[in-house]
Amino acid sequence: MVNAMENAYILCISIAHTKGKKGEILMRKLLATSLIAALALSVVGCSQSGGSQPSSSGGGAAGGTPSIGVAIYKFDDTFMTGVRNAISKAAEGKAQVDIVDSQNAQPTQNDKVDLFINKKVSALAINPVDRTAAGVIIDKAKQANIPVVFFNREPMPEDMTKWDKVYYVGAKAEESGTISGQLLVDYWKANPDADKNKDGVLQYVMLKGEPGHQDAELRTKFSVKAIEDAGIKVEKVAEDTAMWDRVKGQEKMAAFLAASGDKIEAVLANNDDMALGAIEALKASGYFTNGKYMPVVGVDATAPALKELEAGTLLGTVLNDANNQGKATLEIAAVLAKGEVPSKDNTGFEIVDGKYVWVPYKKITKENMDEAK
Ligand code: BGC
Ligand code: CA
Repeated sequence: MVNAMENAYILCISIAHTKGKKGEILMRKLLATSLIAALALSVVGCSQSGGSQPSSSGGGAAGGTPSIGVAIYKFDDTFMTGVRNAISKAAEGKAQVDIVDSQNAQPTQNDKVDLFINKKVSALAINPVDRTAAGVIIDKAKQANIPVVFFNREPMPEDMTKWDKVYYVGAKAEESGTISGQLLVDYWKANPDADKNKDGVLQYVMLKGEPGHQDAELRTKFSVKAIEDAGIKVEKVAEDTAMWDRVKGQEKMAAFLAASGDKIEAVLANNDDMALGAIEALKASGYFTNGKYMPVVGVDATAPALKELEAGTLLGTVLNDANNQGKATLEIAAVLAKGEVPSKDNTGFEIVDGKYVWVPYKKITKENMDEAK
């Protein structure tokens, strides 16, 4: 390689000496070509000598870019679509991600995980269908020595301690419950007419997410607790699960209205999609026109929810930060894929108890909705 460059250089000098300006241009061209050739040679040389080191975490890091297998519980979920997009975006130039749809079936997800393991991905990022199934996934991953980052659906604490290469990225569910309760407290205190039957009690209905999901259980519990903690008496008129789903939210709300009609003074929904469904049902019952109003709160701050917030049909929501949850998931998986230990320095996110990243929630009303965009 050195010889080739020396020869080119000597050639250049002689051309420059003999042919003046034309020679100079020729010399530059020659020098550039020989430099490119030299560079290409050195790249080949490097990769031949040191490029085939096995990755410490199960291989699959072809060409230096780690491969990460990502499974989402189902693609047809508004919030998870946001997280999915954030993962893809964060992966740009950092990792090669393969994102698959588990179609809301744990057996399907288990098959996808097996495929990822057979392909020898460098790390897994899993949004479990059933969070109690995380233990099985951890066992498989551990056996193959492929680190796992769970996200959005929190595995049981006993499963989290099965292996040190297991992480969880999420948000504190009780925090979102407390904030959604406070949104109703603020409304109740500012509007004496909110107590429609003037009995001093807040009659509410609850649209619950998927039973067993930490966000459904804890948002339900802590939203009501926040209202009671503010010294307001509550009465549950009805509660049912709408499985995080907008259409189901609409159906359940229509049923509540048919059964209890004017008794209802507020609607608490565990997420925005169900809140938006409830708003549809309320509109069909004549609400949000001619001064007929119902306070509805949700969680997530999705784009369609912000529209309803702006229109004044949604009272408030809680920012569930899909961008940072997706980013943290990818950053941690990418660090693990390189065989390193995640830290604030190499991921940008604080790691609590050696395995948890908690992305904060935020109260969103019409006043600060720009912060959620
Ligand atoms: C979100 C829901 C979503 C669920 C999926 C929750 O954190 O608030 O909108 O459907 O996660 O697991
Ligand atoms: Ca009342």
